[in-house]
Amino acid sequence: MQQSGEAKIEIQMLYRMLPSVDALVVRREFVRLLKTHSRASIIGAARRCLAHARSEIVAGGHTAASLANLVESLAAAVEQAVTLAASPTLVPVLNATGVILHTNLGRAPLSEAAVRAVTEVARGYSNLELDLATGGRGRRDDHAERITLSALTDDDEDELAKHWGVAVVNNCAAATFLALNSLAEGGEVLVSHGELVEIGGGFRIPEILRKAGVILRAVGTTNRTRVRDYAEAINAETRMILRVHQSNFSMHGFTERPGLAELIVLGKSSGIPIFEDQGTGLMLSLDHLGVSDEPTLIDSFKHAPDLIAASGDKLLGGPQCGLLLGRRALIETIRANPLYRALRVDKLTYAALQATLLSYSTKREHEIPVVRMLRIPAEDLRLRCMHVRDGLRDLVAAESLNVSVVPSQSIIGGGTAPGATLPSFALSLRHKTHTASALLAMLRRQTPPVIARVQDDCVLLDLRTVLPEQDAMLTDLLRSAAAAREDA
Ligand SMILES: *Cc1c(COP(=O)(O)O)cnc(C)c1O
Repeated sequence: MQQSGEAKIEIQMLYRMLPSVDALVVRREFVRLLKTHSRASIIGAARRCLAHARSEIVAGGHTAASLANLVESLAAAVEQAVTLAASPTLVPVLNATGVILHTNLGRAPLSEAAVRAVTEVARGYSNLELDLATGGRGRRDDHAERITLSALTDDDEDELAKHWGVAVVNNCAAATFLALNSLAEGGEVLVSHGELVEIGGGFRIPEILRKAGVILRAVGTTNRTRVRDYAEAINAETRMILRVHQSNFSMHGFTERPGLAELIVLGKSSGIPIFEDQGTGLMLSLDHLGVSDEPTLIDSFKHAPDLIAASGDKLLGGPQCGLLLGRRALIETIRANPLYRALRVDKLTYAALQATLLSYSTKREHEIPVVRMLRIPAEDLRLRCMHVRDGLRDLVAAESLNVSVVPSQSIIGGGTAPGATLPSFALSLRHKTHTASALLAMLRRQTPPVIARVQDDCVLLDLRTVLPEQDAMLTDLLRSAAAAREDA
């Protein structure tokens, strides 16, 4: 930067008004801070505050008077910086994107019942691996087994539990990996060419098979695979047939793929286990959304393949986990794999999963936020949008913010039912001075942050994914973001 000699002298003079880090941190205010924060973190924060002040001086942003004010408030600024650096980085946000299972926003929100269950188990000890009847050792999966079966069917659980077992691991990717490694390591697994998919986040079926120590034998073609293709590929090395739900894309046109039932007939006659990676954990049909081809976990279970894998935090609406549901002998083999120990989940996950599954088995599935969000009629969302807009009418009258209620499309997200859109309504915001992306950034800086999207130079907030009890808070946050200075 070119600066005149005079400006340089001015900058030197202003620089000298700033205290040194050493002089700053021996001030009385910092003695109190030292009780809760390390010396190094205080010094780090002081350096950052001083560097910021110097950059303001260089940019010509200060007079002697304004700098004197800043020096006066430096201690408070350092305290704020220290506190900020010691705050959690993982915080709740308001999801106004209309994407119900937003992977970046933590997928499924938990039901109140699940949150209560987590809190209670988290606070103290629990019988995670203790059989309360005998006082002997219990299995953590006992907390998922019966409850999963009764959420899936009305049949006699005692009978079912003789044949079926459940294991819970970190997520569905872990479930698939663990199942392949436990049941097919060193052998071949048959997968249709059309199912050698990437599920997102780098989860690619061929790589998972390789890492699981399994030889992939791809059968059929990308668009058409028949049962005969599987039958012809079976040999002495075949350990399993894997069927992967095409959850994040759809194929149209000249396509063919055997139904689960047909594969099960082949599995029975050839003695090869059928493993269905169901993925979504969907429990209730999406027919009402015009999505009739999205298979449910209940359908898969009815067909009774040897093994099923599903996610806990997609359409099931529970905590992040992977459910493995299968023939008892297979589940026992999976649990005996040392990797099960590495991939298993903690007590908090079982607590949340139990509560979620109980909502289904007791016909209270409306308690589950994902289920509720899927069902909200567009008209309800329109009325809520109008209400939020009413709360902002002074800003609208002052012409500092233009707010309209517009039709929009929510999506399911999380790589599920890619073609499905839900008719919805959104608030469309346009600020008098700020661009849409500046307003979007200000919304992200609120506490809690509001996550929205930009469409046609407007900020769009779809209320389907905002909990109704958060509408008043959203109104306040919109107001505060609209009033924020761009450089704040
Ligand atoms: C989502 C999905 C997975 C991965 O599930 P995560 O719980 O994200 O690990 C695996 N298979 C299918 C078919 C899926 O839809």
